[in-house]
Amino acid sequence: MPDARTAPPKDPELCQQVIDTCLAMTARGINQGSSGNVSVRSGDGFLITPSGLAYETMSPDQIVGMGLDGGYWGDWLPSSEWRMHLDLYRARPEAQAVVHTHSIHATALSCLRAEVPAFHYMVAIAGGTTLRCADYATFGTQALSDAMLAALEDRSACLLANHGVIAFGSSLDKALWLAGEIETLCHQYTVACAHGDPLILSEAQMGDVLERFRSYGKQAGELEPGSPLAPPPHRG
Ligand code: 13P
Ligand code: ZN
Repeated sequence: MPDARTAPPKDPELCQQVIDTCLAMTARGINQGSSGNVSVRSGDGFLITPSGLAYETMSPDQIVGMGLDGGYWGDWLPSSEWRMHLDLYRARPEAQAVVHTHSIHATALSCLRAEVPAFHYMVAIAGGTTLRCADYATFGTQALSDAMLAALEDRSACLLANHGVIAFGSSLDKALWLAGEIETLCHQYTVACAHGDPLILSEAQMGDVLERFRSYGKQAGELEPGSPLAPPPHRG
């Protein structure tokens, strides 16, 4: 049974990985300044970036430990978006790490409050046939977290209206990668729309993609029998 009142282990190496993920967001051009936040599960709770501090000068001891009851330990206040991170860890057992950014193209599209349709097959990377946009709510509120959870049903990333992106994954690297993919998709979509009306893939076409994504990235020994990603004949 998880114990919400036991402080999560604060392994300095894992804290440094959280900071490295923040620095990577900036280096990859998917975040600016102290906006955005990052967390990772640790023990029965999680470790999260402190609120409003510059990533460039952040040290592992400033990473904040939180329990799944919403309590925190230490001298630094957790990110103002701790509710979104907490609710994801509570609601989605597969979430091991969470990345929130204000990347330019995804944020611009979030201001239109529109779902991104299946203009490109990679939209399936978030788990469905569209990339949803959560309803607007003030940053740092329970209302925003509730809207996010609704938009993330059967998905691992969504836009947050007039705000940005949130993505989770099985590791910090995977969550960061997904946030980057969402930004790339939003960039591609805005460029495509600037040139005309993109043709949208059908439900059936996206169904095929989603089926393939179930095995994409796996090695030969991990593929289920009958996988649509039939590898070429193995010659040695
Ligand atoms: P924090 O610095 O409190 O994490 O806030 C940044 C942010 O992106 C709020 O939505
Ligand atoms: Zn934000």
